[in-house]
Amino acid sequence: METPSGKSLDGKIALVTGGSRGIGRAIAVELARAGAFTFINYVRNEEAASETLRIVEGRGGRGRLLSFDVSDFDAVQDAIRGITDEKGRIDILINNAGITLNNIFVRTKPETWDNVININLKGVFNCCRSATRYMMKQRWGRIINMTSVVALSGNVGQVCYSASKAGIIGLTKSLARELGPRNICVNAVAPGFIETDMTVSIDDAGREKVTDRIPLGRTGTPDDVAGVVAFLVSGRADYITGQVIHINGGLYM
Ligand code: NAP
Repeated sequence: METPSGKSLDGKIALVTGGSRGIGRAIAVELARAGAFTFINYVRNEEAASETLRIVEGRGGRGRLLSFDVSDFDAVQDAIRGITDEKGRIDILINNAGITLNNIFVRTKPETWDNVININLKGVFNCCRSATRYMMKQRWGRIINMTSVVALSGNVGQVCYSASKAGIIGLTKSLARELGPRNICVNAVAPGFIETDMTVSIDDAGREKVTDRIPLGRTGTPDDVAGVVAFLVSGRADYITGQVIHINGGLYM
């Protein structure tokens, strides 16, 4: 399972969407640490993406920044073609980029629905559609899609977000069935409450309320998610596909 260098992902080419911050940054660092050349995608926050790359390189990993909007099919296709033109392949796709635009349903505008679905769900379609062309030819690929605990539990104020994340689960399972014969594994991970920019605006009272419902007694960190993702794309998970792996401290069972 390990390569001669002792790094499990040596020689692999990876793309992490939304790798500039939070969970995506931790995943990019982890994959690069395991030996993958890691493309770090972002949409507008170049400074944060550069910081991810600095951390990657500081730990002896290799990677490059790659800016595109996951909701723009042509931009995604061009970016992934660029990766394969340069590196000859794309082995690992982590569909992590996502946004929340929370509001109670009666105040939710159709534009909000479109925005959240376009980035969170169509973004995953766009990246999978572009990368699987190459993975099918290679007869090897690993795709991890970032869903959420609220895809299953639902949440007040998150109709659009939880719908987008529930859609990712259906996409993941159907794609796993289609691509299994080509040795492409497609899985989803469903984090609970993870401390990132996405959750930073939740006040102490709200945080305490959630923590009270978590059997492990704490909120999660980006590293809690990154370790599981690194496992799922490694040789130790070669027989896992079409699954949703929950990383939530027991918040939802
Ligand atoms: P975050 O800190 O807000 O980071 C979001 C990332 O997505 C950034 O890198 C951002 O890039 C990128 N992004 C946003 N829109 C994009 C677009 N149109 N195209 C390309 N990249 C885009 O979020 P996070 O908490 O790490 O969340 C990462 C993923 O985990 C998301 O899919 C989220 O839904 C999911 N998740 C998070 C939690 C949680 O508690 N935090 C729980 C469950 C699931 P820029 O820096 O350029 O803006």
